[in-house]
Amino acid sequence: MRNAQSLAKIQRALIIDLDVHQGNGTAVLTRDDPSIYTFDMYAARNYPAIKESVDLAVPLPDGADDATYLAALAEHLPRAITAARADAVVYLAGADPFVEDRLGYLNVSKAGLLQRDEIVLNACRLARLPVTVSMAGGYAEKVDDIVDFHFSTVMSAALVALDFCRSCEA
Ligand SMILES: [Zn+2]
Repeated sequence: MRNAQSLAKIQRALIIDLDVHQGNGTAVLTRDDPSIYTFDMYAARNYPAIKESVDLAVPLPDGADDATYLAALAEHLPRAITAARADAVVYLAGADPFVEDRLGYLNVSKAGLLQRDEIVLNACRLARLPVTVSMAGGYAEKVDDIVDFHFSTVMSAALVALDFCRSCEA
């Protein structure tokens, strides 16, 4: 991101951090940088105990399910996109809000996480924002579940990109 800024490819960036843990490292790295806007939605009780300040923090209660999680995302993501005035997005697609995650305190289903990715990617597409997707945490009992989540995130991104290309040709 900072490399893209230094090459003058972008001026401002938006970080959408949907790992179940607060992105405290990112927050510290970017806190004095007004060109990078951080939107972070996480489980309030997960690590770190003391949260760093971010531009838009959405702490969620223990056991937040699909309805609560997706409603919070739908409410706050557009605000973040508007406020960030970004040229590009980095999306941390954490697999650890999953109900069967061993560390996360949220109860989001597989279908809910798939919907989450679609909401984020489509919102970025509508705002004409290029997205870099980054894998983030995942500690489900079954490793195959974690693989499934990351794979479905990549597939969702590919489908949105393909659809975007088709709309450009039309
Ligand atoms: Zn995490």
